[in-house]
Amino acid sequence: MRPDILNPLFASVATLPGVGPKTCTLFERALATAHGGEPRVADLLFHLPHSGIDRRARPKIAEASREQIVLLEVTVTEHRPPQNARGKAPFRVVVEDETGELTLIFFAANHQWIERSLPLGAKRWISGKIELWEGRLQMVHPDKILDETALAKLPPVEPVYGLTEGLTQRAVQKASDAALSKLPELPEWIDGPLFAQKRWPSFKAALELVHRPEEPKIFDPQHPARLRLAYDELLASQVALGLVRARMKKLGGRASVGTGKISDKILGELPFSLTGAQVEALTEIRADLASGERMLRLVQGDVGSGKTLVALLAMATMVEAGRQAAMMAPTEILARQHYERMLPLCEAARVKLALLTGRDKAAERKKTLAALESGDIDIVVGTHALFQEAVAFKDLGLAVVDEQHRFGVHQRLALGSKGDAVDVLVMTATPIPRTLVLTYFGDMDVSMLREKPAGRQPIDTRALPIERLDEVVAGIGRAIQSGARAYWVCPLVDENEELDLAAATERAEVLRQFFADQVGLVHGQMKGKEKDAAMEAFQRGETKILVATTVIEVGVDVPEATIMVIEHAERFGLAQLHQLRGRVGRGKDRSTCLLLYKAPLGEVSEARISIMRETEDGFRIAEEDLKLRGEGEVLGTRQSGTPGFRLASLDVHGALLPVARDDARMIVEKDPDLSSPRGQAVRTLLYLFGRDEAVKLLRAG
Ligand code: ADP
Ligand code: MG
Repeated sequence: MRPDILNPLFASVATLPGVGPKTCTLFERALATAHGGEPRVADLLFHLPHSGIDRRARPKIAEASREQIVLLEVTVTEHRPPQNARGKAPFRVVVEDETGELTLIFFAANHQWIERSLPLGAKRWISGKIELWEGRLQMVHPDKILDETALAKLPPVEPVYGLTEGLTQRAVQKASDAALSKLPELPEWIDGPLFAQKRWPSFKAALELVHRPEEPKIFDPQHPARLRLAYDELLASQVALGLVRARMKKLGGRASVGTGKISDKILGELPFSLTGAQVEALTEIRADLASGERMLRLVQGDVGSGKTLVALLAMATMVEAGRQAAMMAPTEILARQHYERMLPLCEAARVKLALLTGRDKAAERKKTLAALESGDIDIVVGTHALFQEAVAFKDLGLAVVDEQHRFGVHQRLALGSKGDAVDVLVMTATPIPRTLVLTYFGDMDVSMLREKPAGRQPIDTRALPIERLDEVVAGIGRAIQSGARAYWVCPLVDENEELDLAAATERAEVLRQFFADQVGLVHGQMKGKEKDAAMEAFQRGETKILVATTVIEVGVDVPEATIMVIEHAERFGLAQLHQLRGRVGRGKDRSTCLLLYKAPLGEVSEARISIMRETEDGFRIAEEDLKLRGEGEVLGTRQSGTPGFRLASLDVHGALLPVARDDARMIVEKDPDLSSPRGQAVRTLLYLFGRDEAVKLLRAG
């Protein structure tokens, strides 16, 4: 249960004074809420101002900056109403200080209001931007006109927030102020000595400092208040991941030792031998399986590094030990592809393999479920359908999760709980920089597949403006004449599936004018069966060009495909371009990747394309990607809705991550039920940052 002390922070922002339904909707748009519902008071508090206007500097008129908003102390010397009351001429008010004169300009002004707020001879403080107009200094519509009383109430530094259309700074400032007044002093969850050593403010004090800034220094991301808040968020995620890990470990493992019989059979069927990296990863995995502890291992490998085979051999080991294994893929297409590629190997080794997806017919599904429960099936490959409650195993020993970042922690747990001691192997195709592994997966053991299978040829990557489409079409025509196959990827348009689809459909039609029925089409809105049919036709070579939206992004394997055309490459992220390119260059023949772009390229798109041309090293690309984009996008968290970070930014707060990890480890070790006073405070932290899924584990355990 959520600690009561947090209730005011979990109320809707609509409960704040001055926030009506309309503002509430605007907030919903402006605040990145991880929970996806109506924005809460806490969301508002986590929407930190990105900069501020310093109101304390009081420059003189003559030396005031013309770049920024300034606050000036002046005396009103003259009123110049427009000559003709009906005209468009402005009302001018001349003000001065000892260094010079300035004209304030008011269009369509209410004269009485001007007389009242700027009486002749009075001293006033005015804020706005100064500009030079026909040799004279002027300020159009000052944003503030204050007398002495109002000045005293002015915050020394005014916070500036990220907005959305229709939302004003004033509205956010007022609402944040109201939100702050609801914020209770929370029990301190940060480790005592660390807290003392860093001299950080309390959580409440930190938020007050940031939202009611007293000095512009607060906008430095290294300011103690900012560091504290970032640390809180990192700590919450590390504790949550730590609890998941601890729970898995506590549930205990079972030693599963293989005989090598099935694996050897499978290896014997392959026309190649394992790479050094594959052998090494398998050795690590098998050692984990054979130990009495639970395995929680991440296999990281670039596209095409041969992760699937590693997974299959790991599963084979589990089957040799007399238990079952399951492999979960993020999409139907991938689940089916894994199934089909594993089937001949499994048949040769006399392993019973099954496929389970959301699309199976009722009767078929019933049979599969029964066979899983009786143990007649050794290995099952499927989609998230594997999570469902109806799915029971006789003795599940290993769960492999492919392309993990599409699944949440929750799903990982769900599969882990399908047996009494399930080892978990997670595979990611996105090479993730080390800091991110820690952030998103926590303390997992990692095997890296840095080496690619021998004989892979470098991919020739070229960038061309879309105007050269004719040449590209002609080139592809020649290539398919001599037996090549090509992917043609059409981009995401505005994240709008329908427009997306239109682009791909249109491209397919254009290509069909040249290549008739050699052109296939696959997109996200097709029914599962149609998708499979399109993929299979391409796999078998019945179609030679496969036009696709980004559904082919992850994992599809057609070694004969040697050409990848990416249309509007400028709209894709670097990681995505790399994943797409990884679909080719898998066979013996030399492959080409054509990045078609629409000129002119923006700075970032240009950088991405040139990195793509420079390197195929996924790890290097991931690092560059991290520099070019926010870290959330590297993992595609935007699409999958995995909560990202709102207060911490790894580029600037990365150094805090290992500290948070060590602290989290200590918490989980010393107080696994979070029952000590500090443990209770940490629970509050987990709820506050929406990581309370992990708290439920405490009760379950
Ligand atoms: P990933 O999932 O890491 O992107 P895959 O497992 O799909 O890569 O492997 C890509 C291709 O490489 C597949 O066609 C696979 O059969 C092949 N492959 C895997 N291991 C080897 C190896 N050791 N030598 C040659 N080819 C391999
Ligand atoms: Mg794969």
